[in-house]
Amino acid sequence: MRVYNTLSKRKEEFVTLEPGKVKMYVCGPTVYNLIHIGNARPMIVFDTVRRYLEHKGYEVNYVSNFTDVDDKIIAKANEEGVSSQEISERYIAECQKDMEALNVRPATTHPRATQEIDGMIAMIQTLVDKGYAYDVDGTVYFRTRKFQEYGKLSHKNLDDLRSGNRSLLVTGEDQKEDPLDFVLWKPKKEGEPSWPSPWSDGRPGWHIECSVMSKKYLGEQIDIHAGGEDLIFPHHENEIAQSECCNGKEFAKYWLHNAFLNIDNRKMSKSLGNFFTVREILEKYDPQVLRFFMLSAHYRSPLNFSADLMEAAKNGLDRIRNAVSNLKYLMDCGAKAAEASDCGAQETASGMTIAEEGLLAGMKGYEEKFDEAMDDDFNTADAIAVIFELVKFANSNLTSENSRALLQAVYDEIVSLSDILGLIVEEKEDLLDADIEALIEERQAARKAKNFARADEIRNLLAEQGITLLDTREGVKWKRA
Ligand code: AMP
Ligand code: ZN
Repeated sequence: MRVYNTLSKRKEEFVTLEPGKVKMYVCGPTVYNLIHIGNARPMIVFDTVRRYLEHKGYEVNYVSNFTDVDDKIIAKANEEGVSSQEISERYIAECQKDMEALNVRPATTHPRATQEIDGMIAMIQTLVDKGYAYDVDGTVYFRTRKFQEYGKLSHKNLDDLRSGNRSLLVTGEDQKEDPLDFVLWKPKKEGEPSWPSPWSDGRPGWHIECSVMSKKYLGEQIDIHAGGEDLIFPHHENEIAQSECCNGKEFAKYWLHNAFLNIDNRKMSKSLGNFFTVREILEKYDPQVLRFFMLSAHYRSPLNFSADLMEAAKNGLDRIRNAVSNLKYLMDCGAKAAEASDCGAQETASGMTIAEEGLLAGMKGYEEKFDEAMDDDFNTADAIAVIFELVKFANSNLTSENSRALLQAVYDEIVSLSDILGLIVEEKEDLLDADIEALIEERQAARKAKNFARADEIRNLLAEQGITLLDTREGVKWKRA
């Protein structure tokens, strides 16, 4: 498997620090508002990376933080006259609802910055002790130039940073030894949340949070560190500086960055005001359509959001869903026909004809092609194309004359490849009329045998599916809700 590493600017063979295990950290959102669909891109993309790694047999320890102390959170809290904690807890809960809707699995751990302050103070202290950080009137800065490798991720040269692009420098902090130095700890201002520290009552800088949470939950060295490409500089560059100077080891082996989700070819962002929240989009579209849309492009390609592309995503997903429900229908038809004719003479031990066994063997090729696409830096666009090929194979080759075993195998293959991408393509199973009637008969028998527990159990089971039973003189009648 090969993955593109921002550090080396090329695709590299993926070799984990520990065989069979992946330690992965994904920078999470700052929680002061509902997340927008740009924020959903890294969530969906790296959830898919995790699912694929698990499919390959890796045990993945996946950590993604919530930044719950920040200027924007404080501003929102002041605007509403509530505490910062109330704001961050509200939007963490909302974010988790959106993630669940998009079938983004919860991380192994979702640390919150405000609950990790002790670790941050300890790391800052180590950096001070080692001469990588200094305190000026309660503010602690990182001494950027002391880290020889600064700039290795963003491929920036320190002197260019200093003299060239001044907008990249943090300005207005004239107490710093060097304009390139960045903040590790800042003293509180009136009305801000704060924690005691050896330097001042204050709060941590943003970058130190991720270095600390990654170290605490994954260890000093990790396999993958990921996030949107806007985080490469300065956030990830600064994380590397802090972690490597503190621990004396390479921090992360592979740095993965998703490109932006754009609108009218400009980055979708809260500050530009050109964003849609996930919530707004889910009022119009099935969440699976949004997930499909995100995965229809390679994660390193910019993706432009438009109603037309969402419509195309909907059609694409429907094509897969229709094939799956058609296969289910063929299986049901076939089962009824077989019951009526009691045929199936030329079947082999697998339940398939020899010709069908040949077809099934050919199908393995799709699985290999799917893995090949994903092994090439998680090319979900090509992986989806393979699912389409399989759909085409099913639509053009299979009928109700085929054995249930073959139909089931193709069905399972489409569902499981889609599932690796986190796409749900199966219809929610409704109880069929015949199943309902069989359960009602069983309930009658249970009542006759005075097994009221079972009778009640069946009534409840049907109620859960929205089926109401009416005991009438003519017998039991039922209706769907
Ligand atoms: P933030 O809350 O701004 O720190 O963003 C959380 C995550 O969403 C980070 O990984 C960002 O890089 C990512 N992100 C923000 N906006 C976009 C966008 N328009 N397209 C893709 N990723 C984005
Ligand atoms: Zn981070």
